[in-house]
Amino acid sequence: MDVLLPRTLEEALEMKAAAPAALPIAGGTDVMVELNFDRRRPSALLDISRLPELGMWRKQDGTCFLGAGVTYSRIVNHLTMFPALVQASRTVGSPQIRNRGTVGGNLGTASPAGDALPVLAAYDAEVVLVNAGGRRTLPWHQFMVGPKKTVIGPDELILGAQWKIVRGPGSFSKVGTRNAMVIAVASLCLLLDEENRTVRVALGSVGPTILRAVDAEQFLARALQEAGAWDDARTPVPPAAVEEFAGRVGQAARPIDDVRGSAAYRRHACAVLARRALSWALNDRKLTGTR
Ligand SMILES: Cc1cc2nc3c(=O)[nH]c(=O)nc-3n(C[C@H](O)[C@H](O)[C@H](O)COP(=O)(O)OP(=O)(O)OC[C@H]3O[C@@H](n4cnc5c(N)ncnc54)[C@H](O)[C@@H]3O)c2cc1C
Repeated sequence: MDVLLPRTLEEALEMKAAAPAALPIAGGTDVMVELNFDRRRPSALLDISRLPELGMWRKQDGTCFLGAGVTYSRIVNHLTMFPALVQASRTVGSPQIRNRGTVGGNLGTASPAGDALPVLAAYDAEVVLVNAGGRRTLPWHQFMVGPKKTVIGPDELILGAQWKIVRGPGSFSKVGTRNAMVIAVASLCLLLDEENRTVRVALGSVGPTILRAVDAEQFLARALQEAGAWDDARTPVPPAAVEEFAGRVGQAARPIDDVRGSAAYRRHACAVLARRALSWALNDRKLTGTR
């Protein structure tokens, strides 16, 4: 097997155009598992782990761009203004995996259990793809189209993800069979968008790809409006509305029975995660006086 070692993005794209079957390898925490188990035997690996263009992130004009090569450790240490992304990054694997693993790799693998993915979905992120001819930008749901399935072209690389920064509390949480080093049985990212008075809920590991609980989002935004909670963070939200919201999140899941959990358990887990995430968000609003 050849290993191609580009030094710049331009070089990498030229190599990918010349050898479309070359498999990009960033942190290698998914790729090396595939190779070691002999599930994949590409003719060449394209090592993109040293490309400066992929390793950068920036905040500009209310938007964040996160390079595909930014590792979870760097997110935990440097992107603290995005608590949900930090929480998701902190739950990935072990310190060694977080030092190597990247958000670009999570996107490339496109597992419904990828921990960064519900956060990107809740951020309404776009995925930036690049080839030797230029760039294209796709909303997350047009990029990830099925279990471990994306629309990336053979000559393309993921440059990164970008999203409009939202003001308001949010969190990521997951349920697994133990507390650390675990694939999610169900995961959830909730964000309250204070500016637009909208709610965003994304679910992982409970469908063929990441799902948004649109009906539950709209219900909760209305319930907060009716209670007057958008105007005053101290206004309590009726418990019945919280229960209804949690139930609707559970209904949005499209889980299957598998070795990690039954469909019924996963639906239940989504409702529990939703209730918890909402209580954290409402508490955060009370503490920070967000309105
Ligand atoms: C022990 C262990 C524990 C783990 N725990 C978790 C966990 O808790 N949560 C979780 O979500 N994941 C977990 N993973 C999976 C893995 O760490 C993540 O999916 C990680 O984000 C992969 O990133 P990477 O840079 O290592 O990707 P790689 O393995 O390098 O690549 C993964 C895929 O993405 C493609 N790719 C990578 N970068 C690009 C790019 N810029 N352009 C185009 N294609 C690209 C590759 O070709 C490959 O198909 C775990 C893995 C291991 C081995």
